[in-house]
Amino acid sequence: MTFKRLARLLVASALFVSTAAFTISAQPKPGRDPNQPIDEEYTKKIREYTTEPFFNSPLTDYLPASPNVPTPKAVLGDVAGAPGKLPYAEEVYKYMRMLEKASPRVKVFSIGTTEEGREMIAVAIASESLLAKLDENRARLTKLADPRLINFDDAEADRLVDQSFPIYYITGTIHSSETGAPTALMELAYRLAVDESPYIKSIREGMVTLITPVVEVDGRNRMVDIYNWHLAHPKDNWPSLLYWGHYVAHDNNRDAMGLSLKLTRNIMKVYLDWKPQVLHDLHESVPYLYDNTIGDGPYNAWVDPILTDEWQMIGWKNVSEMTKFGMPGVFAHGNFDTWSPGYLMFIAATHNGISRLYETFGNGGADTLVRTLSENETSRTWFRQNPPLPRVKWSQRNNNNYEQTALLISLDYFNHESKLFLKNFYLKSKRSIEKPKNEGPAAYVFPGDDPRLGNRAALLRTLQAQGCEVQRATAPFTVSVKKKPSARGAAPRSTESSAVASASPTPSPKRDDTEPRTFPAGSYLVRMDQPYSRIADALLDYQYWSPRDPQQSVYDDTGWTFGESGNVQVVRVTDVKVLDAAMQPVSGDVLSTGGVNGSGSIFIINHNADNSLITLRYRLRKAAFESAEEPFEAAGRKFNRGSFIIRNASADEVNKATADLGVPALAVDQAPSVKTHAVKSARVAIMHTWLSTQDEGWWRMAFDKMGVPFDYISTQDIAKDSDLNKKYDVIVFGPGGGNSNAVIQGRPMYGNPLPWKKTDLTPNLGGFASTDDMRPGLGLTGLMNLQNFVKNGGVFIGSDDSADFAVSNGFTPGVSITRATRLKAIGDLLKTRMVDSRSPIAYGYGDTLSVYCFNGPIFNVSNVVGGGGGGGRRGGGGGQRATGRGTVDDPDVVQGRPPAEAVEPPPSSEVWEAAPITEEQRRNLIGLIPPALRPRVVLRYGNANELLVSGLLDGGDEIAQHAAVIDSPLERGHVVLFSNNPFWRGQTSGSYFLVFNAILNFDNLGAGRKVDEK
Ligand SMILES: [Zn+2]
Repeated sequence: MTFKRLARLLVASALFVSTAAFTISAQPKPGRDPNQPIDEEYTKKIREYTTEPFFNSPLTDYLPASPNVPTPKAVLGDVAGAPGKLPYAEEVYKYMRMLEKASPRVKVFSIGTTEEGREMIAVAIASESLLAKLDENRARLTKLADPRLINFDDAEADRLVDQSFPIYYITGTIHSSETGAPTALMELAYRLAVDESPYIKSIREGMVTLITPVVEVDGRNRMVDIYNWHLAHPKDNWPSLLYWGHYVAHDNNRDAMGLSLKLTRNIMKVYLDWKPQVLHDLHESVPYLYDNTIGDGPYNAWVDPILTDEWQMIGWKNVSEMTKFGMPGVFAHGNFDTWSPGYLMFIAATHNGISRLYETFGNGGADTLVRTLSENETSRTWFRQNPPLPRVKWSQRNNNNYEQTALLISLDYFNHESKLFLKNFYLKSKRSIEKPKNEGPAAYVFPGDDPRLGNRAALLRTLQAQGCEVQRATAPFTVSVKKKPSARGAAPRSTESSAVASASPTPSPKRDDTEPRTFPAGSYLVRMDQPYSRIADALLDYQYWSPRDPQQSVYDDTGWTFGESGNVQVVRVTDVKVLDAAMQPVSGDVLSTGGVNGSGSIFIINHNADNSLITLRYRLRKAAFESAEEPFEAAGRKFNRGSFIIRNASADEVNKATADLGVPALAVDQAPSVKTHAVKSARVAIMHTWLSTQDEGWWRMAFDKMGVPFDYISTQDIAKDSDLNKKYDVIVFGPGGGNSNAVIQGRPMYGNPLPWKKTDLTPNLGGFASTDDMRPGLGLTGLMNLQNFVKNGGVFIGSDDSADFAVSNGFTPGVSITRATRLKAIGDLLKTRMVDSRSPIAYGYGDTLSVYCFNGPIFNVSNVVGGGGGGGRRGGGGGQRATGRGTVDDPDVVQGRPPAEAVEPPPSSEVWEAAPITEEQRRNLIGLIPPALRPRVVLRYGNANELLVSGLLDGGDEIAQHAAVIDSPLERGHVVLFSNNPFWRGQTSGSYFLVFNAILNFDNLGAGRKVDEK
């Protein structure tokens, strides 16, 4: 045990002892009320389906009877957690609405729909009198959540705390293969509504339990389909749950930063509206109950320490009480770091509430199975003194017992300490508002002169959806800001160190680290003296994860800085003077201003890599678009390379589209004289495998959001189509679909076919992707079809492992991949530099761009097929001479003969460039690639000392300076390779347009290319 761990254990146990000391008094004992009859039959079934008595508790080993309120059996036909019973979301809702009808203690709220139009609900359960006071309580909680409303009057806060009751929000089955929560929550709702035992009654009368029984509704219904298929085909292998939600699977629990999915938006809205004190998300991947919120370090650096103490208090209470019940395998801590704020539960953590998460144990369905655990799951560690058993029969009922028991313990504890937690809720809100004068910063400023106003507005809208207030400056203002690093990315410019005006910033960075900066009117500000400052700070700040952190198994992304990943300028300002700038709150969504200025029948639109530009292209499908191949001026304004020149469109049409999309357009009578090429609305296909679709789902989502139409086709479709060019101009293969071999081979062909299609038995499968058998892959025919597609003029786009697929299968002569040995770039942002700004892929971008990288492939380029002779700086030995006579600068001398004439060293090349062909190689170079077909590097990774933008980077020299984005011609077509992932979790909108440019310029990717004469 490290000292750190020991220290943490001591803190945790000390906390526990102290809280336990004051919870003993007047605590109702868990267990049934002997005066209330129980539902004998239901109780019998609970005991029958529980595989060992110690997998149950006095809280769940019976069900109270009610004369008028139906039990879950009314819908399930059996008890919650019964073998073979997995209800669809609609059945769960049906039951919750039956409860609502039968009991005045239950209210059901519709909270929105999913991508596929299915409903999401929240169920509130409390005594009639509490439910009658929901609105007045909400008014009080709103004041506690925003102490500005009571002028930070602590006495008033105490009065509000006294009068208020807390809201504990529980969310179930966000992960569709983790199936137990819906039935557990159905039964929990029943118990909370009906049970007259003092333990349950006091919860019901002291607080509101709010439940969303199914978070991922689309995925739940697909999971139930698969399970029903399995029940109908007991001897067969069943299809794996390839799609959960419409776009992503497990990553639906990584969306609390970008808020791209409807489920996250819906839960976020409930959170902002109800002001719950806890958001508690239920999962099932660890035996038997792991409270992972306590987790392990590093903890997120932007949350209030009051919160991290609350995690310990509630979590260890669970462990202790369940241990006393004799239930094995209940623990906290474990190896989940709590760094990323992307988890659904973290909505509460970053908004002054309490995030919680259980991992219970599940069988991925409702079969009762003998489960054998690995040694690392059953060993006794300091944080798991009562570990799970090595081999047991496990049932969904066991899971439901654990989930309900733990939740009831938490509800009881929270209820008992509700005044403490409500006061903490107020304190955390208050401390969030006090940020500017404590830890800082004072505000984040979005400069008015940012060239990418559309992407900036999109980022600000994400912050608004997070509940953040946004202001707009009505006049220019000047504040001290951190001095910009010099162009080379190293030390501050020494020439300016004396020129700092003394604005004496508080809290002050060192004086000579700052410089005054004037921001124009129209700049946006996110003030940190607002209740939800922490989420804005967490998203906009930079992240640093030390490679020497004790935590060496990183759980998820380490860096996300939203300004960088959105390619939007964001300035962190600690100077509190910024709060005095003249500004107005923005009401409604932040929008960029678009529409047509000037007059004439030709419209010019500056290319600034704002994502709305591709929407515009597809919106005005019939208009003729051209891209300028050089920068130009028109009507006294400067336009970037790539800017659109639009003809054959009505002024009304252009005005409407550009106004809607926030894209400024200039109407002129005469087109500028600049070299152009046509920008057609390319016919796009997104290809997926039947192995994994999670990562490409984020690509699909971005295409849908930006209105880029595409056909969604599988590797199997490609295998059947020998003339892909007839249908498509561009085929996009997002990352994550499997390694190259698996993409080609598919799944093993042993056993039975694995259908993924809509049938009476599986009404929720198929639809947007369908097959009779998920097993076959691309095959060699498919590979040939794909390659011919490129050779005949098509464009293939790959990223990360799908780029590797193209390289490994001969699509990219001249590109090779070096396998990393030390590189650790764990989901972070890295700096890239522009190499060829004339490439259409680069249109709209500047000299540098931060990109998302997860140990991306290390590309080398060469002028020779197979990559031989690639990657510069060969043979130099780092500039050191070989061993021999003389000093370090002297030549060696061979003894006994005259010195040989020195040969001109081969011209050196940069790491991202192909090495020049030597005279020796040229003699009979069969593999020499004709100059026009050589790989063209568009972006390269930054130098080692500037590479890391945000997150964890170790061994960065392995990938530093290597090509990051390559356009590799193949006969008449092109393969565009990304080492980064341009579409990641809705967070990387700054790099979307690299792909969009490749699509828009699919038949002119060679534009602006300077071809090597040799
Ligand atoms: Zn999960």
